Amino acid sequence: MSTEFYDATVTCKYCGTSFKTRKVRTSAIRVDKRESDYHVIYKGANPMHYDISICPRCGYLMFEKFGELTDHKKKVLEEKYMSKIRDFSRLCGERSIDDVLRIYKLALFIASLTEEPPLVIAGLALRIAWTYREMGNNEEEARFLEQALEYYLKEFQEGQDDSKFGSLMYMIVELNIRLNRYEEVRKWVGNAISNKSIPRDIKNKISDRWQDYKATYCGKDLSVVD
Ligand SMILES: [Zn+2]
Repeated sequence: MSTEFYDATVTCKYCGTSFKTRKVRTSAIRVDKRESDYHVIYKGANPMHYDISICPRCGYLMFEKFGELTDHKKKVLEEKYMSKIRDFSRLCGERSIDDVLRIYKLALFIASLTEEPPLVIAGLALRIAWTYREMGNNEEEARFLEQALEYYLKEFQEGQDDSKFGSLMYMIVELNIRLNRYEEVRKWVGNAISNKSIPRDIKNKISDRWQDYKATYCGKDLSVVD
C-alpha cells in the first residue's frame, strides 16, 4: 500500500459490522486546481473518492450526508437494495475510477430509496458528473449535471433555509452555464442580482461567472443583463 493511504476502522450503521476501509492521509492531500463548480483536481489520490465507505458484509454505505437510518429506511433497503447488490467487498480497498463511479451510483440509489433531501441527491449527482469529467466522458457528465441541477432547483423551491439561497443560486447559474443554457443563465443571474437577501460576495461571484460566460458565448444579444 502506498503511503498516501491508511486503513480506517468503520462500523456499519445497518448491520453493526466493524471493518477496515482505505482512506487518503490528510498529509498526502495536494490540491492542484479548483474548478468553478467546486470540483477539485488533486495531485495524487483524491480524498473524495474514499469518503464514502461500504460495508463488506451488507453493502450499506457510510456517508456523512446521509440522515439517520430509521427502521422504515432499513426495511426499504432490505427489500430494494441489500437483496440486489453483489460483488462489493473489494470496494474497501484501493479504488479504480470505475469503482468510484460505482460507489457514487450506489449512494445515489440509496439516497433516492431513503428519500434524502434534494440537496444530498444533487450533491451525489454532481459527484457522478465530476467522475465522468475525470474520465473524459462529456455526454454522461452533462446527463448528471442536468440531474444535479434538477435537484438544486427542487431544493430552491422547497428548502426552508434562506441562508442557503445564495449558494444554491450560484450552483443553479453555474450548472446552467456548463449545460450552455443561455436563457436560463440570464434569468437566474437577474434573479440573484435583484435579490436583497443574497450576500454581496456571492452576487459578485455570480456576476463574474456571467461575465466569463458572456465572453465565451457567441451569437446572442449579450446586452440584456449587466
Ligand atoms: Zn453492514
